[in-house]
Amino acid sequence: MDPSWELYFDNAATTRLDPCVLDAMLPYLREDFGNSESLHSLGIQSKGAIERAQHTIAELLGAEDPSQIVFVSGATEANNLVFAQNSGPDAISSFEHSSVRVPALAKGAALLSDPSLISEPIHFLSWMTVNNETGQTWDVNAIATHASQFHTDATQSVFKYPLKLEGIDFLSGSAHKFHGPKGIGFLYTRSAILQPTMLGGGQQNGLRSGTLPTPLIVGLAEAAKIASEESANFIAHVSKLREIVLEAVLKIPDVRINQFQSQAPHILSLSFLGVEAEAILVDLDAKGISVGTGSACSSKSKEPSPVLEAMHLPEVWQRGTVRISFSKDNSVSSTAYLAKILPPALEKARQIASKC
Ligand code: PMP
Repeated sequence: MDPSWELYFDNAATTRLDPCVLDAMLPYLREDFGNSESLHSLGIQSKGAIERAQHTIAELLGAEDPSQIVFVSGATEANNLVFAQNSGPDAISSFEHSSVRVPALAKGAALLSDPSLISEPIHFLSWMTVNNETGQTWDVNAIATHASQFHTDATQSVFKYPLKLEGIDFLSGSAHKFHGPKGIGFLYTRSAILQPTMLGGGQQNGLRSGTLPTPLIVGLAEAAKIASEESANFIAHVSKLREIVLEAVLKIPDVRINQFQSQAPHILSLSFLGVEAEAILVDLDAKGISVGTGSACSSKSKEPSPVLEAMHLPEVWQRGTVRISFSKDNSVSSTAYLAKILPPALEKARQIASKC
């Protein structure tokens, strides 16, 4: 029997904590629990661990200085912190995660769907590296040349795929997307022109007050190190898994594969005609398989997905959109099982839908 996480295909939502990451964190949860601002030995030890983690992240990213890394609770906070600047961004892509879209639109940002159509220089632009619903990727270094200030939400790509900081002033990331702990992320900021949103103790040079969560920060750095080392293997592995599912899917009628010329292989977005994605999700879940919906109408929100809308995917296809996302935790055999189970699950969901 495959371990349960091998049948977990919702790795764009979150990933399992790597056991090596947990091992690195445990001392800071047990005995080395000092507050990094304290002047005694425990505090100094904690501060040292945080500084080493900051150095690791900076080095892996190719940043000039560790002080360019601000620790935050996740990419949502990183994105909000960037846009807390007085003016906010002038434009963002139409494909952004809600943690970019909502604060940016509140500040009056324009939506752009095609970077090749940018004809005028933009003061402050935000464009994601990899879309979380479809896996579409963009050359953010090229897009950055159109803006004097450029932010990228790299949550789905950082440390897993190669990335250069050229032209990037701000970059957001979240540890739990690369087998790190939840509740910790970072913002890379080239020159610290930030308007702090958390005021108080003045930690992190006043950019983000609050006692630093040493175990989470240590876990973030360890996960980043492992993901970077494994990047080439990860890309080869998830590409292979993607092909296994695609081969099965191509035999099914009325399926759309939402893929792009430039595509991150760990995300596979499929739209099935004549079904609600939730019906497939529930059926697979009953068989121990987890997938996402990446959907038009999720159970929580009946609003269409702005990402699928921006792709001009007709509503009938949006409703049946399933997101399968891979990680190193999925095996060839567990993926072959998914590929075997998916066509009958779809057939059943279509039959039920046709009777409604
Ligand atoms: N941006 C993207 C592209 C994401 O996929 C996510 C997580 N779904 C976030 C931002 C937000 O990350 P977090 O929930 O860890 O703050």
